[in-house]
Amino acid sequence: MEGHKAPTHSSADMDELLGIHVSSPRDDFQIREVHVSSALRKDPLPGIDYSFNPYIGCYHGCTFCYVPRILQIDRRTWGASVVVKRNGATVLAKELKRLPRGLVAISTATDPYQFVEGKYRITRHALEVLLRANWPVSVLSRAPLMIRDLDLFTQFADIEVGMSVPTLDDRARSFLEPWAPPIDARLRCLRALADAGLTTFVGFAPAYPPTGGWTPESIAEVFASAGVKKMFTRALDDRCGVPEAMARQLDGSELAEDLRRIGDLETIAPFVSRVGEECRARGIDFRSAFGFRSTDSNSGFGSPRTKR
Ligand code: SF4
Repeated sequence: MEGHKAPTHSSADMDELLGIHVSSPRDDFQIREVHVSSALRKDPLPGIDYSFNPYIGCYHGCTFCYVPRILQIDRRTWGASVVVKRNGATVLAKELKRLPRGLVAISTATDPYQFVEGKYRITRHALEVLLRANWPVSVLSRAPLMIRDLDLFTQFADIEVGMSVPTLDDRARSFLEPWAPPIDARLRCLRALADAGLTTFVGFAPAYPPTGGWTPESIAEVFASAGVKKMFTRALDDRCGVPEAMARQLDGSELAEDLRRIGDLETIAPFVSRVGEECRARGIDFRSAFGFRSTDSNSGFGSPRTKR
């Protein structure tokens, strides 16, 4: 990546920049623009050939996010800034001409529909490029802004679109991913995508422990009702300061005791196994993250050491 002297925007001028009001995860949230020299990255996850990440950093700043570990970013600064790859789609177009065709995952290390996408449209422009080249894509987000690009999704010959929904208890969500969109909004987005005839999937990852009275049956029922066709899961990646960050976030919360069990496989594994059974009973292809796209994988609980 090649940085350049592009503008840096603070929260003070963000309303003007975006034309909408959004509360920042931190008062000093920064948006920085760069030009990059590469767009696609070979991805180690089975079944995915490349990843395309339009941004570096993520407004959502989820407490459990594994990306700070991968990028070796101080977790305490995660969610404080985002770097916009201004020419990402242009570079992508050039790469598609010389690389072997393969499945592109959007995204693996950022949220492609975090709020800055409303302004910058790097994800949308990348989709336009991929559509013209007729490459297969898999899109995953926590943000219902994704529905804006329905017109493009429906033109692809080979596409799957998904939402990360690791719990149905929005109160639990508000503790561990407080700046990500509410669960209901994600479910509505999934329903709209399915209604448009698209194959939809859910990333039930990292699987939260059961809270709010949700049972494996009721969870599976909600996803089936939303038209979800596939699900993958994985356990919490608890390296690099995740337990400490979660402890800080949960301090004093009445859900602290329950949510701390997100890293306890003795709690999570049997729960997720039951969720999987109930989902499969309703026709949802439920798999571990590692085997999500692999036909010969087991369909048990995913390794805590795999990416989504
Ligand atoms: S939305 Fe995804 S990339 Fe963004 S902070 Fe949350 S887990 Fe990380």
